[in-house]
Amino acid sequence: MYLKNLHLLQFRNYQDQWVEFGAPKTILVGNNAQGKSNLLEAVELLSTLKSHRVTRDRDLVKEGAEWGRIVATLERQTGEIDLSLTLRRNGRRTVTRGSEALHRQIDFLGTINTVQFSSLDLDLVRGGPEHRRSWLDTLVIQLEPFYAHILQQYHQILRQRNALLKKIREQGTVNDTSISSVSRSELALWDAQLVTAGVRVMRRRSRALQRLTPISYYWHQAISGSTEKLEIKYLPNVPMENDDLELLKQAFLEKIQQRTIPEQHQGTTLVGPHRDEVEFTINQTPAKQYGSQGQQRTLVLSLKLAELKLIEEVIGEPPLLLLDDVLAELDLTRQHQLLETIQARFQTLITTTHLSAFDPVWLNASQILYVEAGH
Ligand code: ATP
Ligand code: MG
Repeated sequence: MYLKNLHLLQFRNYQDQWVEFGAPKTILVGNNAQGKSNLLEAVELLSTLKSHRVTRDRDLVKEGAEWGRIVATLERQTGEIDLSLTLRRNGRRTVTRGSEALHRQIDFLGTINTVQFSSLDLDLVRGGPEHRRSWLDTLVIQLEPFYAHILQQYHQILRQRNALLKKIREQGTVNDTSISSVSRSELALWDAQLVTAGVRVMRRRSRALQRLTPISYYWHQAISGSTEKLEIKYLPNVPMENDDLELLKQAFLEKIQQRTIPEQHQGTTLVGPHRDEVEFTINQTPAKQYGSQGQQRTLVLSLKLAELKLIEEVIGEPPLLLLDDVLAELDLTRQHQLLETIQARFQTLITTTHLSAFDPVWLNASQILYVEAGH
């Protein structure tokens, strides 16, 4: 797929700016705080409907404006599509695809596929498990947009079950034997729903990682020039012995039953995929404890390349690659490796403050846009 142009209206520090992408690679160059990352963020929003930098839409709308809009033309194998996302200070959004205004924004997911790599992605290795869950969920949504519904449903059930657990705690009936029969049957109902939705989440996460692992293993060896073995391990909160659905549901329910008392004490759900973990290991050693910043960057780069390839394989079209401030930090060997991989196939948007660190091959192959104060 190819993003032909982007029109930013009252978005971040942009008032009204058109950008045409005239080559498969675009380098956005400019000083700090000029709007380079904002532009990438706009593409990310069209792709995932989320920004990895902020959660509130009012931060995305230009200061002093009530609404902001991102408009784009995308070329896919099926034809050209016009897209727009309108953001409002009050959080209400409107999404359109072609001439159609979509009722649910979730139906918009999967229109533009992207893989992004910014310095924040080092949190994938160093940060808490929520970073890895969120990264994995974003990947699964790209592979199968319907997963967004599954995830949304799981979180809805989780919220309602937590509300009930809190109510039980407030009523002071933390001893399982004294919990009212009404609460008990209500809780059993939520348990069953949590299990049904939870296993759907777990199986999809597990399958995506199984597919991603061999590809990232390959790239890690290619980039690091070593025989080190990168593995991605899915550590589900409910143990998954195998892919058997009934056994998995049973294990889930059993674990919930074991935690009944602590759950009611704490007033929150302690079992389920919202507590999953993903572990990266290199030669069996957890990557968190492993190596230098450079090595961790190599690991994340291998993951990102693997994501590109996997999405391409599943979708049948190459996704876009968004590189925010990371290319210049890679040494020339790794820059070469990256260039080899993406060639002209993957449209790539790159931000940097200086061109001097770039391999000349990159510079020759790229459209260079200067970004200054939102222009
Ligand atoms: P760096 O090289 O430091 O990463 P950058 O060019 O990527 O810089 P951005 O993060 O894209 O910078 O843009 C930051 C600028 O956007 C800042 O000047 C900030 O004040 C401005 N900005 C962010 N949000 C808004 C908003 N809602 N309204 C107006 N300006 C905003
Ligand atoms: Mg930036």
